[in-house]
Amino acid sequence: MSDCIFCKIANGEIPSQFVYSDDYVVAFKDVNPQAPVHVLVIPREHIASSAKVEDSSVWSRLMSSAAKIARELGLETDGYRMVINTGEHGGQTVPHLHLHLLAGRNLGWPPG
Ligand code: AMP
Repeated sequence: MSDCIFCKIANGEIPSQFVYSDDYVVAFKDVNPQAPVHVLVIPREHIASSAKVEDSSVWSRLMSSAAKIARELGLETDGYRMVINTGEHGGQTVPHLHLHLLAGRNLGWPPG
């Protein structure tokens, strides 16, 4: 989508710190990190939110890429969290499906 900030990051129109990229998925550092490690994993395809996913292969690519990035960043021992905010009550602010990969400190539960 032409006015979507994450589409622009995925296609290189807006600079970002990429940590992973393949034909389907892009991962980059969150500009406002909430933990020492805060990576966003997104599909290249514009999908507005988790509620709009129709093809289950989107999930397998997103989740397996996030797990692979976590392995490559050495996060398996201490652990990490994957979060997908959806809609207003879920706290979603960017309307392009994205998975937050958070690590590097003890993360509180329940979320605020
Ligand atoms: P959410 O609130 O779940 O929609 O998360 C959106 C996330 O995108 C927030 O954590 C923002 O800090 C992050 N964000 C917004 N713009 C950018 C950008 N240009 N580069 C990297 N992260 C961004």
